[in-house]
Amino acid sequence: MSGIGIIGGGLGGLAAACTLAARGHKVTLLERNDWLGGKAAVLEQDGFRFDMGPTILTMPRVLERIFSESGRRMEDYLDLVRLDPQWRCFYDDGTVLDLKQDQAEMARDLNELAPGQGDGYRAFLKVASQLSDVSDRFFFWKAVEDLKDTMDFKAQMSLDTLKDVLSLRMHRTVADQVKRNVSDRRVAQMLEHFIQYVGSSPLASPAVLCGIAQMQVGEGVWYPMGGTRAVPAALAKLAEELGVTFRTGVEVERIETEGGRARAVVAKGGERMAFDKVVSNMDSVRTYRELVGGKAWEGFQKGRKREAACSGVVLYLGLDRGYDHLAHHDFVFSRDAEEEFDAIYNKGVPAPDPTAYIAAPARTEPGVAPEGGEALYVLVHTPYLRPGQDWSQMLPGYRQVILDKLKRTAGLEDIEERITFESALTPQDINDRYKVLDGAIYGLASHGKVLGAFKPGNRSRQVEGLYLAGGSAHPGPGMPMALMSGWIAADALDSDAGGRAAGADVAAE
Ligand SMILES: Cc1cc2nc3c(=O)[nH]c(=O)nc-3n(C[C@H](O)[C@H](O)[C@H](O)COP(=O)(O)OP(=O)(O)OC[C@H]3O[C@@H](n4cnc5c(N)ncnc54)[C@H](O)[C@@H]3O)c2cc1C
Repeated sequence: MSGIGIIGGGLGGLAAACTLAARGHKVTLLERNDWLGGKAAVLEQDGFRFDMGPTILTMPRVLERIFSESGRRMEDYLDLVRLDPQWRCFYDDGTVLDLKQDQAEMARDLNELAPGQGDGYRAFLKVASQLSDVSDRFFFWKAVEDLKDTMDFKAQMSLDTLKDVLSLRMHRTVADQVKRNVSDRRVAQMLEHFIQYVGSSPLASPAVLCGIAQMQVGEGVWYPMGGTRAVPAALAKLAEELGVTFRTGVEVERIETEGGRARAVVAKGGERMAFDKVVSNMDSVRTYRELVGGKAWEGFQKGRKREAACSGVVLYLGLDRGYDHLAHHDFVFSRDAEEEFDAIYNKGVPAPDPTAYIAAPARTEPGVAPEGGEALYVLVHTPYLRPGQDWSQMLPGYRQVILDKLKRTAGLEDIEERITFESALTPQDINDRYKVLDGAIYGLASHGKVLGAFKPGNRSRQVEGLYLAGGSAHPGPGMPMALMSGWIAADALDSDAGGRAAGADVAAE
């Protein structure tokens, strides 16, 4: 066997497979589970259907780009519905606030909620828009590992570039930026929560990540009919049409190198498969530590502390009633954001009064629950797995903390009596099902004012012919970024193999 081997069939692996196959490469994708899509999995039981992992889809242009590689149209594979309000927010003082798509209307609502907050919101979005623009030009659609990869300083150092570097606001955190624009605790909590998309603390993450707000508010929140599961299903269909070979139930244990070059992979059970080049969609740290090892692993970890992003507990609740006051996406905020972030990111313990995210997809697709019922997905972020934390012991107590929070703050007083089906996902389950770093949902934490936004690069500096794709590689976690990561890894590989390097064209679009 030769051609390209891809380890892992998460969104990053699937995006890489589609892009490489579209550019004429022979691709074999190896996935240890018996489904494709990784964390974008589905749970169906007793007439209820739950997306198990991601539920909020933003930046569909990334998917469009992947489909267009082979001249296909995303609309022929996926039916995306735009959601407005984007989120409904519930606060412990009884305030309910919708995050609306229309920025003028949203600003009016916020000025009514507390004087000046709407104007502050607009100012925040202006900064977010600048930062998103800088990300588009310097971080996205190209293989990046550090600041020097983003800009060719010698060739490009002009006044404009300097302005761009300064606009990254490297001396500020997300929380600093939010505080400069809004003073109301509720509005600040809402804006700081965008950084939860990358599982990191707003108090420790660089301000450049405020750009995430613009990527959502400006480009919309989308629901794929059939659930987010429809995204990997559509990519797998495209990949099959393009001739990708899928092998599920195959766990790779080693990447074999020869003279510093990736040559083959060895699966559990000893099967050896020779490849010209290898793309790993497995967690980047675990790829180097467990599949490569030796000097490459030492080189990879030198000088950079790589800490897992947060983990989480998900409750999948099948109910015999619906809650009409919920929107499709809801945030039920903690009583005190600092207490919550301190618990999760500093103390490494579950927050005593957490923020709960609820997805109630029956608002958009009633078929997810039996008639009159509701398929509720409740996610609470927790610390990544710490030594001695046994979630089989911790889950029952924390489940009660979560349900009490929903009763107290989101008006779901009778939820416990309404449950007819229940299942859960813990940090340990996330760790074991997806083989991630310490149970992390979102790859590596984005902490650090200067280097926080940089993730391991897509083109390995340690092993020739090895490429990294997925939420723990550049540009980072979340559906759009993991998909883009797959595209970038494929583009870098293709250009190294003498194919067409489309990165420059796309970055300019
Ligand atoms: C509960 C939860 C909620 C989330 N909510 C959102 C959300 O609302 N919006 C959003 O944008 N993102 C969300 N995310 C994050 C998003 O799901 C991820 O960032 C994204 O799906 C990661 O994709 P990935 O390509 O990195 O791979 P993963 O999904 O981690 O897949 C990697 C694949 O590689 C396989 N693999 C690993 N090692 C090997 C090996 N050695 N051999 C063979 N196969 C291997 C694994 O089995 C897995 O299938 C959420 C995640 C979770 C868990």
